[in-house]
Amino acid sequence: MVTEVFEKVKMPRVHYTVPKAEMHVHISLALSDEGFKRRVKKRRTPLELDFMVNREKRYYQNLTEFHGTYENCRDMTKTPQELADTVQQYLQRIAREGAVYAEISNSFREGALFESQMEAVSAGIEAARHNMGIESRIVVTSLRNSGAEKAEEAVKSLAKIKEKYPLITGFGLVGDEGVNRFSDFKKSLHMAWDAGFGLTPHVAEQQLHNAVDFLDSIPEEAWNINPSDQRRLRVGHGVLIHMSSDLMREFAERQICMELCISANKRIGLPQETKILKSGNIIKATTSDRFITIDRDLRPYYEQAEEHPIKTLIDAGIPVCLGSDNPLLMNTNIGKEYSMSHKAGVTETSDHLQITRNAIMNANVDAVTRGRLLSHIDNYTIDPRPTATALGHKRVELAL
Ligand SMILES: [Zn+2]
Repeated sequence: MVTEVFEKVKMPRVHYTVPKAEMHVHISLALSDEGFKRRVKKRRTPLELDFMVNREKRYYQNLTEFHGTYENCRDMTKTPQELADTVQQYLQRIAREGAVYAEISNSFREGALFESQMEAVSAGIEAARHNMGIESRIVVTSLRNSGAEKAEEAVKSLAKIKEKYPLITGFGLVGDEGVNRFSDFKKSLHMAWDAGFGLTPHVAEQQLHNAVDFLDSIPEEAWNINPSDQRRLRVGHGVLIHMSSDLMREFAERQICMELCISANKRIGLPQETKILKSGNIIKATTSDRFITIDRDLRPYYEQAEEHPIKTLIDAGIPVCLGSDNPLLMNTNIGKEYSMSHKAGVTETSDHLQITRNAIMNANVDAVTRGRLLSHIDNYTIDPRPTATALGHKRVELAL
């Protein structure tokens, strides 16, 4: 029979024409499967090809195991050309899935190496924009494990090169949430804000107490941003706040945008100290008398994507957006993350459009760009559904 010859194409749960935004991706390892295969053949990584086909390889017991795999991949985008290619290819790939905007993260490095990386990332962004119309900005991140002083030095260096690399519009914190206090980074966050950067630190991906300190570490001005200001405030992940009505209420009241990464949450195990948190536990801030009470069970989203609390967070009135975090290591991309949200109970197209609207409203872009990006969402019609993405990409879809 003819039908046996063809492999059935799996249709995405969220239609490819729905405008999407990628708000959390560590870009240097966002390699395509083809790019990864070439590196394996050239022995650029100790990982083997079975990394792509053996399901268990892209699941991680804990953050330490994940970081080990990350390190094994680090050399795969070594030269500026490789980094530029990786950026361009990932952005073009997600543009075909409906993405109109991406905010991509790159780690801070010292000196000339960093500037050559920023040139490469900027060139990748510009090439993808030229070819596909997708808009992007850069978030530079500092590793928490390296300490608060390093973060402050990173901000100082960024402030000096800001004019030269206008696509750098955000500053973030990454790394182990358990090694030092979030509040230690208050100064660096204030410095970054004052230097003109939006803020998007990783918060409460693995440790809930970070979300409590986060609330005390943000500049006052960031709670009440002038709409014409380019800077925005978001949290990377934040998923653990679903354990506390206090935190959800505060995030909703302050309209703190959360970058949820459903695949990443499902694929990296949580530390024991988080798993043992129980209703009635109180978490105190380290620098104020603020405290929150835990009153909800930890949802087992690390076992089942259907359990992800995205719907609960949306229903609580918190503006959420989506991110793929590490596409290669999590076997995902932003199109798939929208489908994952569908799996986790966000099934209406209007909700997916709202997720993209939240992303654009909280993107670190100038007012003109924000208006242009919002028009893609405003112009989208569910009935009749368009036959191409907002940026003009068409896919064959046969009504068989
Ligand atoms: Zn991340």
